[in-house]
Amino acid sequence: MGQRDYTSRHRPRLHRDVYLIARYHRPAMAKQSKDNTPAMRQYHGFKQRHPDCVLLFRLGDFYEMFYDDAELAHRVLGLTCTHRNGIPMAGVPYHAVENYLRRFIEAGHRVAVCDQVEDASVARGLVRRDVTRVITPGTLTDESLLADGRENPLAALALHGQNEATLAWIELSTGQFTVARLPIETVADELARVAPRELLHEDTPQSQNPWQTIAEAGGAVLTPRPSWQFRQGEAVEVLQRQYQVATLEGFGFRDDDEALRPAGAVVHYLLETQKRSDGSDHDRLQHLLPPKRFQRDHHMVVDQNSLRSLEIDQTLRDAGTDGSLVHVLQQCTTSMGKRMLRQWLCYPLRNLPEIQRRQRMVGALVDDPTLLEAIQSALKHVHDVPRIAARLAIGRAAPRDLVALGRSTGGVEALAELLAERPVFAETCSVLRALAEPMAALSQSILGACVDEPPAHLREGGLFRDGHDAELDTQRALQTDSHTWLADYQKRLIEETNVTSLKVAYNKVFGYYIELTAANRDRAPETWSRKQTLKNAERFITPELKTFEGKVLSARQHAIDREQILFAALCDRAAGHLHLLQRFSDAVSQLDVLACFAHRAVRCHYTCPEVVEEPVLQIEAGRHPVLDELLGDRFVPNDVTLGATKHLALITGPNMAGKSTYIRQTALIVLLAHTGAFVPARRARIGLCDRIFTRVGANDELHAGRSTFMVEMTETASICHHATASSLVILDEVGRGTSTLDGLSLAWALVEHLASRGCRTLFATHYHELTALADSVDAVTNLHVTVREWNDEIVFLHRIVPGATDRSYGLHVARLAGVPETVLQRAGALLEELQVSHQGATTPAPLTPRTDPQLSLFTEYMEHPVLESLRRLNLDAMRPLDAMDELRRVLESLQEAPTEKP
Ligand code: ADP
Repeated sequence: MGQRDYTSRHRPRLHRDVYLIARYHRPAMAKQSKDNTPAMRQYHGFKQRHPDCVLLFRLGDFYEMFYDDAELAHRVLGLTCTHRNGIPMAGVPYHAVENYLRRFIEAGHRVAVCDQVEDASVARGLVRRDVTRVITPGTLTDESLLADGRENPLAALALHGQNEATLAWIELSTGQFTVARLPIETVADELARVAPRELLHEDTPQSQNPWQTIAEAGGAVLTPRPSWQFRQGEAVEVLQRQYQVATLEGFGFRDDDEALRPAGAVVHYLLETQKRSDGSDHDRLQHLLPPKRFQRDHHMVVDQNSLRSLEIDQTLRDAGTDGSLVHVLQQCTTSMGKRMLRQWLCYPLRNLPEIQRRQRMVGALVDDPTLLEAIQSALKHVHDVPRIAARLAIGRAAPRDLVALGRSTGGVEALAELLAERPVFAETCSVLRALAEPMAALSQSILGACVDEPPAHLREGGLFRDGHDAELDTQRALQTDSHTWLADYQKRLIEETNVTSLKVAYNKVFGYYIELTAANRDRAPETWSRKQTLKNAERFITPELKTFEGKVLSARQHAIDREQILFAALCDRAAGHLHLLQRFSDAVSQLDVLACFAHRAVRCHYTCPEVVEEPVLQIEAGRHPVLDELLGDRFVPNDVTLGATKHLALITGPNMAGKSTYIRQTALIVLLAHTGAFVPARRARIGLCDRIFTRVGANDELHAGRSTFMVEMTETASICHHATASSLVILDEVGRGTSTLDGLSLAWALVEHLASRGCRTLFATHYHELTALADSVDAVTNLHVTVREWNDEIVFLHRIVPGATDRSYGLHVARLAGVPETVLQRAGALLEELQVSHQGATTPAPLTPRTDPQLSLFTEYMEHPVLESLRRLNLDAMRPLDAMDELRRVLESLQEAPTEKP
């Protein structure tokens, strides 16, 4: 028997089915006879096709969940889980489903919605159903499920051997598709920046995915996918089909480029999850832009440490956005601008002309507040166009989307006019001018056709204006005329029966009826048929009313059908402009972020930094953008001066004096300068940076098996290996997680290392011994935070001035923190004792770090106990053998590591 010849087109289907059957097996299922009804068989069919999803199965007015899904719904949504015929089930009303979907997705689950795809009233036998939506955290398009200020990327990761990986990600709402081939050690950093909501990976045992913790910490859900979808051949085929090309070389990828593997997998997943409203699959996703290669060196590297420690998009305290840099700067008017602001802050530029181009545009808006205001008020009419475009592309736009699109695209010409004659905006202006005509035509066709207050959905119609379509008007007239007919009919019946309280009315469930109060129920003529008995009334129907009902209801249905046809046509027309809409969104988002920078600059007195090529850092009266906002006038601005000769500053001063604030504000000012924004300083001159390194704060990653000290040292190691002469390094208290001697030695050696690297460095430390380095290492300069002493109290002045400090004021800070007076007094006494013995023990040897820092530091701190025991020996009273024994003991104790004095 010859083997079956599967063409490559069949192969994916076969792999997929085998994969699905392997993942879904419910051995107990077949045994349950109640489970074998036609509807349940239909249910299991869908569940088998979507084994990783919670399946919501439409039954009448409810979406039902069964078995494990019902129990999950009970746990996640708090729904009551009942048992019918031994089958656990839980349901949600169909009209409230969006809210439940959102909660499932927020909890990291995937959901498949199975709808009735034929009218239940005309269906013969079992109603035809199909899965019409597969909703997963990374494939959301519905407005109600998306946060408007944040992107919602879907990513896939593939490894290439031991040293490299590719991360491919798609922002479905904008259609942007990025492919980044990365050295393995940078994957975690990029994952933190991209912050995917869902990360696809090959279906291998979980322990083999080293990024699970990182991805999950960033809020991603991990979705295993069958390995064949990551194969080169399959991936390339999916991509060629998506873009309808014979080769991907036109996009800058050779067909054998391994980076295409996760790119294909991510598109495959999208095609599988994005369905049309009738449940059919898309052959391709119209609005998906071609994949673009991510050029890591075009941007300043902001690794996961810096992203977290500098609190760029979320705070350390509670991982919320309030209090982050993105949050305090957020003055964007549009949702798309809000998302772009985060992008710009996470991906600062390294290209000087591009930075300066942005600065010129921000400057023009700062200098012309009227223009700034006019732009921001024009942008108020622009809705979330990219997300609407995405919904149009996949056939899921709602009536309100269409009207919002009409309003958004109406003012392009006016926006272009605002920017005309401003040379710095020439490029944006010409993009908008080119778009103005088609956008205005689109806007007119939408707003001319649709009512001002559109309904949320088209189930009841009501979107199109009267007079827009003759056929719709005819159907509507039939319904309007019906009101007159009904009033006449009611009048006629009252006359015939002589019952003045008689009413002819309508309700959704029972349709039209004649109602008599209970007292009059016997006065109904024989020809009337009883329809419904209520406590106080009796309802009837007549053949005449029945005929009328048929006519009205069919007119209603015809009108709704007609509106749906008109809606689909208008959506198609809008979808024909997808690429123009994407260009429009891009231009508007950029303008919005520039206006946001300008607004901030005006309101908070930011200045334009001079960004230069040489490695300098000069900031006059710099402020921390977040604390400055909170403290207002109480915030004390500070200067920074680092240059080619003195490029490493040691900052000493008591705890709580403001050291961390100072080094962080410097990093934030440098980062802002690289985005083209103005900065919180009186003046700033900033040399381009390739990367910001941060080692701040104590946090452990016990979940990853790393203690606080281990985390600290790992970060320090990364800085030692990767910092270049163009980097900015900020270090806060390195060496704290170990003993004083170890810590001081490490900090010392690190300062020497960084001094030789040439990177601009701010090193906040409580080891004031380090300040001696300024005398021996040219690159090092000392700064300290001033405090004022008053009796036993200290007052923090938060002012950073040149020079070293020699006190740490630990007890003063402890007093401020409320440590009991008895403890403080005892600590004070101990301190004095320790200082006396410390000074009496040895004369501190001058620190000679270059020869042997470890030894010289050690001798300054303590003497070895062996010396003391040698001093106590009374040689005159000892026999030679005792002396030998003593000598042996001394040698043995010298083998042990010296311990620090208490
Ligand atoms: P350190 O790192 O020296 O322990 P921090 O930088 O954490 O101190 O600052 C402690 C607190 O001091 C901050 O939370 C802030 O309230 C205040 N502070 C710091 N710097 C300033 C400043 N320049 N102006 C005003 N208050 C400041």
